Amino acid sequence: MQAHTVQQLQECPRAGMYVYTGGTERGGRHIECCAEAARTVMAAPAGERAASPAWKDIGHPTAEAAYAHMRAVLLERLDLEHTTLADWAGCRAPLGEARCDVPTKRLASIEPAYFHEPLCDEHRTRETVEAMWDGPGDWSGSW
Ligand SMILES: [Zn+2]
Ligand SMILES: [Zn+2]
Repeated sequence: MQAHTVQQLQECPRAGMYVYTGGTERGGRHIECCAEAARTVMAAPAGERAASPAWKDIGHPTAEAAYAHMRAVLLERLDLEHTTLADWAGCRAPLGEARCDVPTKRLASIEPAYFHEPLCDEHRTRETVEAMWDGPGDWSGSW
């Protein structure tokens, strides 16, 4: 079971800083929000990892900042053009108390399963998705 949440870094040059992590207890945890810098650190030989300059780009002073970074990373992955449905669906964009409901075959998606909602041409925008989605938060699952 994968578990995704914010943790504090332990025993590293940025110990105490917050990062958004994924993975399993048995298979090991990995940093998801500052992933590029974390990859750079892990690419260094084991004995040199602690001294890697990439650490300066890993970690956030508060848990809120780590959640916000993960959200920003995921919103960069938002795909507004490439996912289509076989059947028509009503646009899910909120409109007052109701929803837009204009028929569409297009989805706005953040893979693998963060956000998948049919949205019409008018509402298939990053602004609409940001208003509809407050993720990622904490979650666990098999993907
Ligand atoms: Zn981060
Ligand atoms: Zn709409």
